[in-house]
Amino acid sequence: MTETNKLPTLSFEVFPPNSQVGTANLTATLDQLEGLNPSFISVTASNHKLDYEKTTIDLAKYVHDKLHCPTMVHMPAAYVTKKEVDDVLNKLEDMHINQVLALRGDIVEGYTPETDFKYASDLITYIKQQKPYFEVSGACYPEVHPDSKNRIDDIRHLKDKVDSGCDQLITQLFYDNEAFYRFQEECAIANINVPILAGIMPIVNRKQALHVIENCSARLPKKFISILDKYKDNPVSLKEAGIAYAVDQIVDLVTNNVEGVHLYTMNKSDTAKHIFSNTASLFGLE
Ligand code: FAD
Repeated sequence: MTETNKLPTLSFEVFPPNSQVGTANLTATLDQLEGLNPSFISVTASNHKLDYEKTTIDLAKYVHDKLHCPTMVHMPAAYVTKKEVDDVLNKLEDMHINQVLALRGDIVEGYTPETDFKYASDLITYIKQQKPYFEVSGACYPEVHPDSKNRIDDIRHLKDKVDSGCDQLITQLFYDNEAFYRFQEECAIANINVPILAGIMPIVNRKQALHVIENCSARLPKKFISILDKYKDNPVSLKEAGIAYAVDQIVDLVTNNVEGVHLYTMNKSDTAKHIFSNTASLFGLE
């Protein structure tokens, strides 16, 4: 990638809990992120038909109003109708939120998807028609989306997605920076020229690590597997080593001129703060 003097952005992702107690815990946790000044905080959406407004939109309002932070709302095309999208966009506008991450959403067994939008690009086109001034982001997969036939198809569809009006891309989590750099090159060759934010998820406990290994096609470098093996019975060291690994990844990405880092916080403010305090100056946030 070309040398640039522009500082990269740092953003966080949080997810809505599924109980009232969880919500109270989360808002207490989120309050600790106040003052870190990330570029934005994104709020995920459930991957099945839940009360989208009572979960994602309510939490987004909290982030925007109480933390005074630019807020991005995840919107899964498979679980919203056109009418719901209209309502939510109007509501977001009233809340002064104008950033959406438009997704297809995971197709989960037992939940019948809605049919108004088939792919994320259909939703992006629709949002841009309704609210041209909204900033719409899309998801991307340095190690290829699992539904794709191959890398070429995946990149072609990504190009279509960007051409449908997507302003920036946020990657699936990855642990091998080389996979990300290769993906950046493929995007450049395909004339995909929007900013690509690198999704980083620090491993903070073994259960989470096993979940990631089971559900994500990310390649796990030897260094990463060694950490999991060595500290399998030592949760404190596993967490410290997991955070150090994420910091190391971030330093390498910023050194190589990444446009932004999107930190999957897993709703753990201590982890986010730890990583922030070790990397803030790289983002001009000190
Ligand atoms: P799409 O861009 O629609 O792509 C899905 C698949 O279809 C890909 O294989 C693509 O190559 C293919 N495709 C695209 N267009 C076409 C076409 N025209 N013809 C044929 N094939 C095509 N899920 C949630 O439910 N809630 C969340 O909050 C959430 N947040 C996420 C945040 C990030 C940063 C990322 C990376 C993912 C997130 N996901 C979330 C997961 C996401 O919904 C799934 O990975 C989903 O399976 C694909 O979503 P997408 O938006 O990438 O889909």
